[in-house]
Amino acid sequence: MEVVRRVHAMKEVSRQARSRGLKVGLVPTMGALHEGHLSLIRRTKDLADIVVVSIFVNPTQFGQQDDFDRYPRNVTRDADLCIAEGVDYLFVPENGDMYTDGPRVFVDVEDLSARLEGVSRPGHFRGVCTVVLKLLEIVQPHLAALGQKDAQQAVVVRRMVHDLMVDTEILVAPIVRDDQGLALSSRNERLSEEQRSAALAIPRALEAARQAAAEGRRRSSEVVQAAQEVLEQESLLQVDYVALVDPDKLESVPQVGDKALLLVAVLAGDVRLIDNTFITTE
Ligand code: AMP
Repeated sequence: MEVVRRVHAMKEVSRQARSRGLKVGLVPTMGALHEGHLSLIRRTKDLADIVVVSIFVNPTQFGQQDDFDRYPRNVTRDADLCIAEGVDYLFVPENGDMYTDGPRVFVDVEDLSARLEGVSRPGHFRGVCTVVLKLLEIVQPHLAALGQKDAQQAVVVRRMVHDLMVDTEILVAPIVRDDQGLALSSRNERLSEEQRSAALAIPRALEAARQAAAEGRRRSSEVVQAAQEVLEQESLLQVDYVALVDPDKLESVPQVGDKALLLVAVLAGDVRLIDNTFITTE
């Protein structure tokens, strides 16, 4: 595996791979890799000839400086994991190379970005879209893999790629959970023992919502309430939102239709945790 640090060098690698007719796949990450990231790498490896993993803790998608500063970083360990997975290139750009002369140009996907996470984290998706577009421009991948864990991010990025006519296929892979059901996240590293066990209420809440729908409760308010009740039993969790939405438009739906997406965001101390599940009527 080759570690590439400079934008121009990464562009050259990709240009050469493409000129040899090879299919390039990108897995964009912020590092502190776990099985969720590795699942994206494996999927990409199945579909592409060259796998590029990027690690960049993107300052423009963080609201507060301290959240950015506290984000876990361990590039040496990440590189070992990538080698073990057979990654071809690990792209680890510097901030100054990604934002020459500071951030000035932004990509904003209106409406979708303002909902849900966007309410509590204004500007977050503007930062995400800006950096993802930069990475797509640099790596020029045929496909890029994202996780369903960040469901709204996947919807927003898909919309950006579509509307800006970017020639990259966006693949969204399922959520990877630990054996107790907690969705893997780099932020889980920052949970105390007590917060971690309280966080197990999140997958229980998703299950309660699925169960409510399966039992025939069709009104959104009932399904949302089933999840909310489970979360509210945990004093260490502060609920930001529980919402049942259309999976593409992210608008609230009044009823569980063919397919709806239940999204949950909670705070455990200052650690923000998000999770989601599809709710069907079957
Ligand atoms: P991050 O490093 O948190 O920015 O995540 C990089 C990519 O990995 C994003 O597309 C995430 O949605 C995805 N991802 C993070 N956690 C998981 C998980 N538990 N299961 C599947 N994908 C994930």
